[in-house]
Amino acid sequence: MTKRSAAEKMLLILSAFAVITISPFVYLRWLDGDMLMAFIDGTLVVVTATFFTFVYITRQVDTAKLVLSSFFAVAIVSIVAIRGQSHLFWLYPCMIAFYYILPARPAGIICFIAIMLIALILWPVTSTLEFLTITLTLFLTALFAYVIFNNYSKTNSKLALLASIDPLTSSGNRRALDLKLEKILADQNRESSKVSLLLLDLDHFKKINDNYGHANGDIVLVELVELIQKSSRALDALYRYGGEEFIILPLKVDLVEATKVAEKLRALIAKTTFADDISVTVSIGVAQYRAAESAEAWISRADAALYLAKDSGRNRVVAETEVTEKAIAAKSVEEKAS
Ligand code: GH3
Ligand code: MG
Ligand code: MG
Repeated sequence: MTKRSAAEKMLLILSAFAVITISPFVYLRWLDGDMLMAFIDGTLVVVTATFFTFVYITRQVDTAKLVLSSFFAVAIVSIVAIRGQSHLFWLYPCMIAFYYILPARPAGIICFIAIMLIALILWPVTSTLEFLTITLTLFLTALFAYVIFNNYSKTNSKLALLASIDPLTSSGNRRALDLKLEKILADQNRESSKVSLLLLDLDHFKKINDNYGHANGDIVLVELVELIQKSSRALDALYRYGGEEFIILPLKVDLVEATKVAEKLRALIAKTTFADDISVTVSIGVAQYRAAESAEAWISRADAALYLAKDSGRNRVVAETEVTEKAIAAKSVEEKAS
């Protein structure tokens, strides 16, 4: 089972906290003889506990978050309608919680509707000054929370992007690759399909650096990534695996199709000049995912194919099956000789 996401943990903690804080009120209302409120608070506890269990077992947070927030908004508005304005104080912390667990826009819509309904309920029963104080403070709380959380989520997305790209080439970095592979393996465990990866390594790149300088070597890497990204719509994603090694994940294709994609890329790179006048070639190893294997095993089969491509003269594509064929051929030669 994969680790629980931050969103799941947050929802579990918030709903557990809500159950713990509301539960004593059920008892207190009951002691007071206020059976209606005891019933409403009891319902809140039961529904929130059910949500906790639902999220804990199914791990479907998106729908649960929206339903839980709407439910709490409806509950508070109903309590204010039944029991009066002293209960609306609950809406302040709840609005912050809505913004915390939902994207800013749906949270804003829920808050806005709740504030409107509360305004309609309170208008006939409060003085103008009281009415204005309540509605304005509610509105300002919702507005400030919107601005703060909207900013916060934008910054978060920017940081997530920065944490996943390679600073030199802007391709995906190792972290992004690991996450992608984890996702592919999880998908494969659920429903297996054909998926292959390309491991690409620049040929004699050390010489390129020696002959043209490291700065030009960097430009070659940047332009190579741009070329690969532009070249084919059949590519899903490109990641920098090491210094001058890249992993390319074609869209779901088998070994034969992936080898064709690799061959097209190899030929394109060989005929392109980089950093004005530098020619480079690449060797590519291709491997198709085998059921139940680890990401490391998958990459190491592509690596064996890449090694063979280098060994047989570079500027070529080798599919993993050729590795086995070559090994078998070498073995039969050995057997004949002995
Ligand atoms: P082969 O064909 O066997 O792959 O030879 P190679 O020279 O490419 O392989 P080797 O592993 O010996 O050298 C890799 C070179 O890649 C050495 C290193 O300086 C260079 N390199 C790695 N990362 C970068 C980088 O970010 N910028 C530049 N300019 N060079 C890099
Ligand atoms: Mg190399
Ligand atoms: Mg290398």
